Amino acid sequence: MPRYNYTCESCTNQFEARYTYAEIDTARPACPECGSEDCTRGLNRVNMTASGTSGSSASSASGCGSCSRVGGCSGCSH
Ligand SMILES: [Zn+2]
Repeated sequence: MPRYNYTCESCTNQFEARYTYAEIDTARPACPECGSEDCTRGLNRVNMTASGTSGSSASSASGCGSCSRVGGCSGCSH
């Protein structure tokens, strides 16, 4: 179930709420800090953060650590 970022317009508290795709259009989350329902949904889904797309993952697919080529040396068991 996707999580969404919300910002409370009353106290500017930021929190997460989980809704299904069917629920999200009608969801009215209440701020856990002040209880206000005047909350703005953020643009980004929390579970779609780009932390895994920074490009660092490419290094793990190249060689065994002692070589720099993909599948390059006798140390590469594959
Ligand atoms: Zn609030």
